[in-house]
Amino acid sequence: MNDPIVAANPAVLAGLDNYLTLPAAQQPTWPDASAVADVRAELATLPPLVFAGEVDILRERLAAAASGKAFLLQGGDCAETFADATADRIRNRVKTLLQMAVVLTYGASMPVIKMGRMAGQFAKPRSSDSETRGDVTLPAFRGDIVNGYDFTSEARTPDPKRMLKAYHTSASTLNLIRAFTTGGFADLRSVHEWNRGFANNPANERYLSLAQEIDRAIKFMAACGADFNELRTTEFYTSHEGLLMDYERPLTRIDSRTGNPYITSGHFIWIGERTRQMDHAHVDYLSRVRNPIGVKLGPTTQVEDVVELIERLDPNREPGRLTFITRMGAGKIREELPKLVEAVRDSDANPLWITDPMHGNGMTTKNGYKSRRFDDVMDEVRGFFEVHKAAGTFPGGVHVELTGDDVAECLGGSEQIDEASLEERYESLCDPRLNHMQSLELAFLVAEQLAKR
Ligand code: PEP
Ligand code: MN
Repeated sequence: MNDPIVAANPAVLAGLDNYLTLPAAQQPTWPDASAVADVRAELATLPPLVFAGEVDILRERLAAAASGKAFLLQGGDCAETFADATADRIRNRVKTLLQMAVVLTYGASMPVIKMGRMAGQFAKPRSSDSETRGDVTLPAFRGDIVNGYDFTSEARTPDPKRMLKAYHTSASTLNLIRAFTTGGFADLRSVHEWNRGFANNPANERYLSLAQEIDRAIKFMAACGADFNELRTTEFYTSHEGLLMDYERPLTRIDSRTGNPYITSGHFIWIGERTRQMDHAHVDYLSRVRNPIGVKLGPTTQVEDVVELIERLDPNREPGRLTFITRMGAGKIREELPKLVEAVRDSDANPLWITDPMHGNGMTTKNGYKSRRFDDVMDEVRGFFEVHKAAGTFPGGVHVELTGDDVAECLGGSEQIDEASLEERYESLCDPRLNHMQSLELAFLVAEQLAKR
């Protein structure tokens, strides 16, 4: 017998559109409202990219992390692009995340929840609505889901059809991720293979010697007759900033098991630092869906903001529901984070705390590149662990912008990337990412910090 289908409560359905009555920051100015309505109608007919059952499992995994029993690794591009959604580039990012996860799992003896800023991270908030070059002013680039990066009027005019392309690109990216992570590629017995194709460097050598230890441990277990299915496949979740309302609303679906709404464009959705105003659209909308929700917290965040966000987004204090992603900057985290962590610790809430050591550490190089110093990134991670240690709370994860490719966008690391290298290997259309080697180095640092807690 089939399970009965549960319809949505009409009040819940009506509530989903309440955001339309509220200001929504960072939305594009579409030139043609009827074209947007057509695309929304089409998106609403397309299959969900992720399923409610998977989202529920993720919430349980995050609950484990919030209570100190697991660690969240979340990473990927600042802005995914349509052009870079190729098999090679997706594979390199997945391999990098799998390698980082192995370093963390082995180093800290703790389950690691793997999550990509992937298969949907196409919309970007911008500090200004427009960009001026010389005497030409055009709309700012808001991500491939809205407009094109080229500085021409044609490319920069927001085009709602791009939302369909973002959906289909997310679907093909997710299809490849699912194939990689369940089709044998992620088998821990091939932990060496993930390193293939990456240039030789100190972080890789460190990784290879760890891979050897893991091999030995697996062979030992196999000789003892143990054969864990868990070694063959891995769970991998997708996440993106829930920014573009005209995309997220039509991809919100009612789960027929429970009648509850889920955003089905990704498993985990976060609210950015620029769109977390309490009385605006994003907080209202995300308060009404069942997905686990993240909120970025910058250095000006006050205790009252955190208390109110908890009240709005997690009124039932549901384990795994709410993640705070702090992005304070290396110079500020030790001053600004303690009061927030302590206030929450002394309340009845138990959100997951993770660190984004990227977005508080931006700088512009002398030769004009948007960059970050690897040392600042590492220092913010250390600060994050120090603050949580002092407060007696659990530092539950990292959120990083990274790529598996050999780019030069962040300065430093053991390869000593300098300003001149940026001129040769800078590819990001948005924020600078850690390259493959810097990502592995960061994973080793985090593993050390976790192990010595
Ligand atoms: C981002 O994650 O790319 C981003 C824009 O972050 P934040 O909202 O923290 O500035
Ligand atoms: Mn970014």
